[in-house]
Amino acid sequence: MGTLAIGISPDKVTTLRSQVRGEVLEPSDQGYDQARKVYNGMIDRHPALIVRCVDVADVISSVNLARENGISMTVRGGGHSGPGFGVSDNGLMIDLSVMKGIRVDPAKQTVHVEGGCVWGDVDHAGHAFGLTVPAGFISSTGVGGLTLGGGLGYLTRKYGLTIDNLLSVDMVLANGQFVTASANENSDLFWAVRGGGGNFGVATSFLFQGRPVDIVYGGPIFWSLNDAEKVLKYWQDLILHAPEDLNGWFGFVTIPPVPMFPKEHHLKKMCVITWCYTGDLNKAEEVFKPIRAFCPPVMDVAGPIPFPVLNSLFDALYPPGLQWYWKADLFNEISDRAIAMHLKYAAQLPTLHSTMHIYPINGAAQRVGDKDTAWNYRKANFSMGIVGVDPDPANNERLIQWTKDYWMALHPFSAGGAYLNFIMEEGDERIRSAYGDNYTRLAKIKATYDPQNLFHNNQNIKPGGK
Ligand SMILES: Cc1cc2nc3c(=O)[nH]c(=O)nc-3n(C[C@H](O)[C@H](O)[C@H](O)COP(=O)(O)OP(=O)(O)OC[C@H]3O[C@@H](n4cnc5c(N)ncnc54)[C@H](O)[C@@H]3O)c2cc1C
Repeated sequence: MGTLAIGISPDKVTTLRSQVRGEVLEPSDQGYDQARKVYNGMIDRHPALIVRCVDVADVISSVNLARENGISMTVRGGGHSGPGFGVSDNGLMIDLSVMKGIRVDPAKQTVHVEGGCVWGDVDHAGHAFGLTVPAGFISSTGVGGLTLGGGLGYLTRKYGLTIDNLLSVDMVLANGQFVTASANENSDLFWAVRGGGGNFGVATSFLFQGRPVDIVYGGPIFWSLNDAEKVLKYWQDLILHAPEDLNGWFGFVTIPPVPMFPKEHHLKKMCVITWCYTGDLNKAEEVFKPIRAFCPPVMDVAGPIPFPVLNSLFDALYPPGLQWYWKADLFNEISDRAIAMHLKYAAQLPTLHSTMHIYPINGAAQRVGDKDTAWNYRKANFSMGIVGVDPDPANNERLIQWTKDYWMALHPFSAGGAYLNFIMEEGDERIRSAYGDNYTRLAKIKATYDPQNLFHNNQNIKPGGK
């Protein structure tokens, strides 16, 4: 009897099929090509086996098969990883995307979320109860990867990173054991998964503290690129001192040629601040008066908006399958010299979808210590992501070059590490510098829970640091 590309006999796949309730897909199976796709269209990999797990038992069987047979394994949550960590060539892909259960507990204000959910699922389920879990800026991103990596978003200043709202996580470990990690149970593991990514096991579900966020005052306000210096300086000063109810990320964008924008602005490069104000709605117009007055905006669509709508505002502009190339850094401040570099590269945005965003990290996120979770850059005030994006692979070279050049120009002004959820694969040094002093403890915990590095398709922490 032959072996499959994965290096195991067909018998073992037959046994797996009998053990799990989810679909097991091989390359010849219908649905395989759809299931192997991830969000970044640059990634085109062919796993030997895809297990579309429907429950924890399916995850345990899949992890055991990979470990017992030395198979390279990937875990796919929402599939949004830039480097495509959810899928590998000839590996076993544990696909959680059908594990979509969510339970809101209105009395405790908690939200229990299965590992295959995306943030739009959580927004939808929580909104019915007036609750939100602080996460990111796009609702199609997976709960799994975003949470395990840290989680920056509209509510970071008010409620901290996503991991600061995590109460516990259920996990299948490399040895196939099922555990819960929280402040009281397996607390070393709980420390590590709050920023340590997918290094420690498969997170089958997350328990979050929900937050009472329902209708907010938010949305984008656009200014001319000619005013970008003034806007960036104003925004930096405002966001470093504003009440934590006010958040807004700064970006450079190209206005899409769609009917919601006046024709005269189509394809113009502009700067934008996308706001989210969670304070008293009756006071919102007053809060935004100086923002609208310091420099006249070109377009202004900020106003009262349900949080799930704000969180999905850009989903349609960034559907799955576009080509994506990311680079990132963290900053304590955005100096005048750094601003000059931003202006230079903003004027050269290479494609309609390419963009640069700066997200604030100050406020509630900085009230948690650098050593309290694995996420190590709470002292930095800003997280910058530069993303070259386009539907057409023919433009890849151009957008990758722009992203690299832009990053090279800004890197000398950075705080050192980067938010690992915003980079491609940049090597071991970059991972170590992102974790700084926390790397040693992470490597020790990795050696305890995954000594063979079964979970290696990620921003990898080496067991014991070796
Ligand atoms: C359009 C877009 C917008 C984004 N916006 C934000 C944002 O606003 N804020 C922010 O913080 N980040 C943001 N990100 C970055 C995002 O956090 C990362 O890409 C993250 O890895 C995505 O998680 P995922 O589950 O969708 O990805 P996947 O590709 O499925 O997984 C990414 C990594 O996490 C691991 N993983 C995923 N789920 C699990 C699990 N349940 N158990 C164990 N390991 C798991 C995978 O093995 C892999 O290593 C954005 C990304 C994109 C593409």
